[in-house]
Amino acid sequence: MRKDRKHKSVETHRIVIDYEEDLSDVEQKFYSDLKKDKISAAVCKKCRKVILPPPPYCPYCSTRLKPSDLVSLPNSAKVLSQTVVHYPYPEDFPLSPPFSIIVLKIPRADTSFIINSKRLDIYLGDRVKILPKRQKEKKGDITDIDIEKF
Ligand SMILES: [Zn+2]
Repeated sequence: MRKDRKHKSVETHRIVIDYEEDLSDVEQKFYSDLKKDKISAAVCKKCRKVILPPPPYCPYCSTRLKPSDLVSLPNSAKVLSQTVVHYPYPEDFPLSPPFSIIVLKIPRADTSFIINSKRLDIYLGDRVKILPKRQKEKKGDITDIDIEKF
Protein backbone atom coordinates (compact mmCIF):
# COMPACT_ATOMS: atom_id res chain seq x y z
CA MET A 1 0.00 0.00 0.00
CA ARG A 2 1.32 3.42 -1.05
CA LYS A 3 1.45 6.05 1.64
CA ASP A 4 0.53 9.64 0.86
CA ARG A 5 3.58 11.77 0.55
CA LYS A 6 4.12 15.35 1.50
CA HIS A 7 6.67 17.31 -0.50
CA LYS A 8 9.33 18.98 1.64
CA SER A 9 12.34 21.04 0.76
CA VAL A 10 15.25 22.11 2.89
CA GLU A 11 17.77 24.75 1.95
CA THR A 12 21.12 23.59 3.21
CA HIS A 13 23.53 25.89 1.41
CA ARG A 14 23.59 29.39 0.11
CA ILE A 15 26.42 30.16 -2.24
CA VAL A 16 27.66 33.72 -2.53
CA ILE A 17 30.21 34.43 -5.20
CA ASP A 18 32.07 37.72 -5.11
CA TYR A 19 33.48 38.79 -8.42
CA GLU A 20 34.56 41.83 -10.33
CA GLU A 21 33.66 42.40 -13.92
CA ASP A 22 35.82 44.32 -16.35
CA LEU A 23 33.82 46.79 -18.38
CA SER A 24 34.38 46.77 -22.12
CA ASP A 25 35.60 49.97 -23.74
CA VAL A 26 32.09 50.68 -25.09
CA GLU A 27 30.57 50.19 -21.61
CA GLN A 28 33.18 52.52 -20.10
CA LYS A 29 32.26 55.19 -22.66
CA PHE A 30 28.53 54.70 -21.93
CA TYR A 31 29.09 55.32 -18.19
CA SER A 32 31.46 58.20 -18.89
CA ASP A 33 28.77 59.79 -21.12
CA LEU A 34 26.17 59.18 -18.41
CA LYS A 35 28.26 61.22 -15.97
CA LYS A 36 28.07 64.05 -18.56
CA ASP A 37 24.24 63.72 -18.72
CA LYS A 38 24.30 61.96 -22.10
CA ILE A 39 22.36 58.77 -22.76
CA SER A 40 24.29 56.88 -25.39
CA ALA A 41 23.33 53.82 -27.40
CA ALA A 42 25.44 51.77 -29.76
CA VAL A 43 24.54 51.51 -33.44
CA CYS A 44 25.79 48.18 -34.72
CA LYS A 45 27.84 48.75 -37.90
CA LYS A 46 26.74 45.40 -39.37
CA CYS A 47 22.97 45.10 -38.63
CA ARG A 48 22.24 48.79 -37.81
CA LYS A 49 20.33 47.91 -34.59
CA VAL A 50 20.40 50.62 -31.91
CA ILE A 51 21.24 49.02 -28.57
CA LEU A 52 20.87 50.54 -25.11
CA PRO A 53 22.72 50.13 -22.81
CA PRO A 54 25.52 49.04 -25.11
CA PRO A 55 26.94 45.59 -24.38
CA PRO A 56 30.41 44.52 -25.62
CA TYR A 57 28.80 42.59 -28.51
CA CYS A 58 25.66 43.19 -30.58
CA PRO A 59 22.89 40.89 -29.24
CA TYR A 60 21.48 40.54 -32.78
CA CYS A 61 24.57 39.66 -34.85
CA SER A 62 27.45 39.31 -32.32
CA THR A 63 29.52 42.10 -33.90
CA ARG A 64 31.93 43.69 -31.41
CA LEU A 65 30.73 47.18 -30.45
CA LYS A 66 33.16 50.08 -30.13
CA PRO A 67 33.02 53.48 -28.39
CA SER A 68 32.90 55.08 -31.86
CA ASP A 69 29.57 53.27 -32.45
CA LEU A 70 27.84 55.33 -29.72
CA VAL A 71 25.21 57.95 -30.54
CA SER A 72 23.12 60.16 -28.23
CA LEU A 73 19.45 59.34 -27.81
CA PRO A 74 16.56 61.64 -26.89
CA ASN A 75 15.78 61.87 -23.18
CA SER A 76 12.12 60.94 -23.56
CA ALA A 77 10.58 57.48 -23.33
CA LYS A 78 7.35 55.54 -23.07
CA VAL A 79 6.74 53.10 -20.21
CA LEU A 80 6.29 49.55 -21.58
CA SER A 81 6.05 47.85 -18.21
CA GLN A 82 6.30 48.65 -14.52
CA THR A 83 6.26 46.71 -11.29
CA VAL A 84 6.79 47.63 -7.66
CA VAL A 85 9.21 45.50 -5.65
CA HIS A 86 8.45 45.05 -1.96
CA TYR A 87 11.08 42.48 -1.09
CA PRO A 88 14.70 43.36 -0.34
CA TYR A 89 17.26 42.60 -3.02
CA PRO A 90 20.80 41.45 -2.21
CA GLU A 91 22.74 43.68 0.16
CA ASP A 92 24.69 45.51 -2.54
CA PHE A 93 21.58 46.54 -4.49
CA PRO A 94 21.41 50.36 -4.46
CA LEU A 95 17.68 50.71 -3.67
CA SER A 96 15.70 49.51 -0.68
CA PRO A 97 12.06 48.47 -1.11
CA PRO A 98 9.62 49.61 -2.17
CA PHE A 99 11.01 50.62 -5.55
CA SER A 100 9.91 50.28 -9.17
CA ILE A 101 11.43 48.30 -12.01
CA ILE A 102 10.42 50.18 -15.14
CA VAL A 103 10.86 49.07 -18.75
CA LEU A 104 11.21 51.99 -21.14
CA LYS A 105 11.04 52.33 -24.92
CA ILE A 106 13.29 55.16 -26.02
CA PRO A 107 12.73 56.50 -29.56
CA ARG A 108 15.27 55.11 -32.09
CA ALA A 109 16.41 52.31 -29.73
CA ASP A 110 15.74 48.73 -30.89
CA THR A 111 16.04 47.44 -27.33
CA SER A 112 14.01 48.28 -24.26
CA PHE A 113 15.76 49.97 -21.37
CA ILE A 114 15.18 48.85 -17.78
CA ILE A 115 15.69 51.20 -14.88
CA ASN A 116 15.08 51.00 -11.15
CA SER A 117 13.50 54.00 -9.47
CA LYS A 118 12.19 55.06 -6.09
CA ARG A 119 9.20 56.51 -7.94
CA LEU A 120 6.08 54.41 -7.42
CA ASP A 121 3.73 56.56 -9.50
CA ILE A 122 4.93 55.64 -13.00
CA TYR A 123 2.58 53.40 -14.95
CA LEU A 124 2.26 51.48 -18.22
CA GLY A 125 1.84 53.90 -21.11
CA ASP A 126 3.18 56.98 -19.28
CA ARG A 127 5.50 59.26 -21.19
CA VAL A 128 8.55 60.08 -19.13
CA LYS A 129 11.58 62.29 -19.30
CA ILE A 130 14.89 60.62 -18.51
CA LEU A 131 16.95 62.71 -16.17
CA PRO A 132 20.44 62.28 -14.95
CA LYS A 133 20.72 62.57 -11.16
CA ARG A 134 22.29 65.59 -9.58
CA GLN A 135 26.08 65.60 -9.80
CA LYS A 136 26.65 64.87 -6.10
CA GLU A 137 24.34 61.82 -6.26
CA LYS A 138 26.04 60.28 -9.29
CA LYS A 139 27.97 57.05 -8.99
CA GLY A 140 28.90 56.54 -12.66
CA ASP A 141 26.64 53.52 -12.97
CA ILE A 142 23.15 52.70 -14.25
CA THR A 143 21.55 54.12 -11.09
CA ASP A 144 22.58 57.62 -12.24
CA ILE A 145 19.38 57.72 -14.29
CA ASP A 146 16.03 58.80 -12.93
CA ILE A 147 12.73 59.62 -14.59
CA GLU A 148 10.01 62.23 -14.33
CA LYS A 149 6.50 62.23 -15.81
CA PHE A 150 5.76 64.66 -18.65
ZN1 LIG B 1 24.42 43.78 -35.00
